[in-house]
This record gives sequence, structure tokens and C-alpha cells, in this order.
Amino acid sequence: MIIDTHAHLDMEQFRDDLASALVRARDAGVTHIITIGSDVKSSRAARDISAAHEEIFFAPGFHPHDVKSITEADYAELRELLKDPKAVAVGEMGLDYHYDHSPMETQREHFKRQLGIAKEINKPVIIHSREAEEDTMDIIASAGLPAAGGTLHCFSGGQDMAERALELGMYLSVGGTLTFNNSGALRDVIKTVPIEKLLLETDCPYLAPKPLRGKRNEPSYLKYVVDTLAQVKGLSPEDVMRITSLNATVLFGICEPPKGGAIAYPIRDSLYLNITNRCTNACVFCVRNSTDFVKGHNLRIKNEPTAREIISAMERADFARYREVVFCGYGEPFMRLDVIKEVARAVKKRGVKVRINTNGHALLINGDLFLPELKGLIDAVSVSLNFPTEAEYEKYCRPLREGAYKSLKKFVKMARAYIPEVSVTALAMPGVDIEECRRIAEDELGVGLRVRKYDEVG
Ligand code: SF4
Repeated sequence: MIIDTHAHLDMEQFRDDLASALVRARDAGVTHIITIGSDVKSSRAARDISAAHEEIFFAPGFHPHDVKSITEADYAELRELLKDPKAVAVGEMGLDYHYDHSPMETQREHFKRQLGIAKEINKPVIIHSREAEEDTMDIIASAGLPAAGGTLHCFSGGQDMAERALELGMYLSVGGTLTFNNSGALRDVIKTVPIEKLLLETDCPYLAPKPLRGKRNEPSYLKYVVDTLAQVKGLSPEDVMRITSLNATVLFGICEPPKGGAIAYPIRDSLYLNITNRCTNACVFCVRNSTDFVKGHNLRIKNEPTAREIISAMERADFARYREVVFCGYGEPFMRLDVIKEVARAVKKRGVKVRINTNGHALLINGDLFLPELKGLIDAVSVSLNFPTEAEYEKYCRPLREGAYKSLKKFVKMARAYIPEVSVTALAMPGVDIEECRRIAEDELGVGLRVRKYDEVG
């Protein structure tokens, strides 16, 4: 599933073959497209295309190039178009100082006015910004976004702009430019943006991706952007498609997000298992506080699956083709020691590596004597040390049981006798002394340390 969040299907480049371009899009896995208006005429055309195709939605608005000739009657029609149930956003609005098609002051006025309309009706905004980074962000910050949010389309800004947009809760949309040879700086910025805040777009008929650069762009070419974004983010193309589609679904409300809790869910080349939502910590930074989703998978489960159900879910996912099976999910796996053992036995029978990601409270939960039972079943364990001091651990992880930090360290030391690979992770939160975490890991616990980004889960 791929969602093209920005196309101009009304343009004359699609006049002769829109139908076949849409067939190619479907064949390439593009399930939904948002076609964008730039003035009243194209917004009307976008509405008509959307009305004729179930999978196409539209966003009416006034492009900065065109605002010099926008009238009050145009605004009245824009408001009418926005009443259409398939009008999912307002745009393309914004600023373009690269060309001189409309005076800058006029662009700013119409940008603010369209932001105002979007706020009034609470629809997300699609924003164009070219060589106008500071003014764009200043206007968004002072005028405010609709509660429904917004996106910077065809993002080509610098690190500052990306960070300001993320602080405002915005999405950034990437397309063909990400694939260009001379877009190294853009790829470096996008590397720092959480995948949960990225969208895909073609901006077709413009900006065809690298192997087809210079040709007319069309939605089916998004696969090249998917591959590049997967490389930039260290994810699989399937991860990119799933996560960006969920992002688009959340922002534009164009289809239902996945329901129900996933039990076996792939990320990169690992198959993760979600066996419980219970935990012995109540971390202030826990993803469960803000969303049901991790890397596009809905992990909120109503009932804990049995070992049999977990094995069936793994088999449906064809688990033997993964590099490893990881007990992780949306809670602490050691809450269910018996299930871990039964499922791990089934995984090991097929020769697949087994890892557990844990908060390290296993001894507090199961007592000091169980570790020998894991010998030969578990290949690796990664323990969230998170912080270098007990005080910080207590403050941010808020353990529900006494002595959790000390017990965690004891577990790491004991686990080394029964599990071949034991490591700990530290959380790169502002103010956390990572070097002290490293000293604890290597000198005190005798294991390696991996540093996790604070805002990245999964
Ligand atoms: S240990 Fe993990 S699952 Fe438990 S509260 Fe903390 S972040 Fe959430």
C-alpha cells in the first residue's frame, strides 16, 4: 500500500492517458492519491477527477504562483469545494520566492488567509515553500496550524526548517528529489526526521525520480522514492510503504488505520512478537502513552495471545525467512516466561535466532532461579538500562516494583552465563550521560552498549 499525497492529475500532461496511468499506479501498489488544486479551475478539475475515482481524493487551494489573480469569488468557490467529503486538505498554499509569478507580499497575504480558512474548518494544510524557508515557518508559527495539522510538500529545506516543522507537529513530504544524485544534503536532513513524520508524494507530472528523471512523472514511479527512503532510513521498502501510508491516513483521514493488535509484525529483516501489553515500568517516554502504533503496526491488544496463537501468527508470517524472531512488543515479555519458552522452542526448531528486548526486570518478576531454563533457547537479550543512575531511572522509568535498577544490573550479569549475546541500551535523552552508561555497561556489567534515539521506537 502506497499513498501518493501530492499529484496534479488535472494537468494537461495527463489529458490523454490518465486512465492508463491510474492502472499502472494500482499495479505498482499505489492505493490512494490526493490530487491538488492550484487555482479555482484546477481545484474544480481535481474535484471532478476525485468524484470519478474512488481511490482519488483532492485538496483545493491557491498556489503562491497563482495568487495575484485570485478574487473574492474564487474564495467563495474554494469554501464550497471544501465542503466536498473527498476534499481532505486545503492547498497547495504557501510561498515561492524562486519565481516572480506573484508579488511576495501578495503571496504572504493569501497564505495567511488560506491558513485561516483551514483553521476555521479544521482541515490539514498542504504547504509549498521554495526559497522562503524563514517566512514560511514564521507565518505558520504566528498564524497557527489547524488542529488537524499539515505538511510541507516536496520538502527541500534545511535542518532548521525540518526541526521547526517537527516542533509544530507537521509532516514532511518527500518525492523524486530525494532520489537525485545532487540531493545528498536533503537525504542527510531526512535521515534525522522520524519516519512517523514523513509522507510520500510524486508532485507529478513534475520531478520524476532518478532513473526516469526528465520524463513525465506519475504515481506508479513512487516505488523509486520508496526504495531511496528505505535506504536513507535503514528500513525495508515494506516498512516505508506501511508507515508512510499510516501517516497519510492519520493526517488526511482517507481510510481506516489498521485495527486490532498485531501479534507477529515485521520490521526490517526481523519478525517481532507482541505477547503482552503489561509492563513493570511506567516510563514517561513510553510510546504507549501517545499511540497504538509502532512502525505502522497497531500493537494494542485486548487479550494476551496464547503460545499456540503466537506460533500460528509466526507461521502465517513465514517466520523462517527472517534473520531473527524478537520478543518485544508493547509490554515486558518476561511477564510471560512460560510463553517465551514454548514459542522460543518452536522458533529454534526451525533454526532461527531468538532475541528478547526487555526492561531487565526478569528476576523481579520470575525470581532468581529461572535463567538456566533459557539456555539453548535464547540467543540474545537486549536490556534497556536507559540511564546511568538509579535516581534518573526512578524518575523517568517509574518502576512499579522496588529495587528495579539494581535488579536489572544483576540480571544482565547473570544472563551472561546462559545467553550468548547480552547487551544493554542507553537512551540518548538530553542530559543523559551516555559515556557513563558506556562505562557501566563495559566495566561494571561486562557487556556492550547500544545508544537508542530518544524519539525513535522499533
Ligand atoms: S519498559 Fe518499555 S514498554 Fe515498559 S513502560 Fe517503559 S518503554 Fe513502555
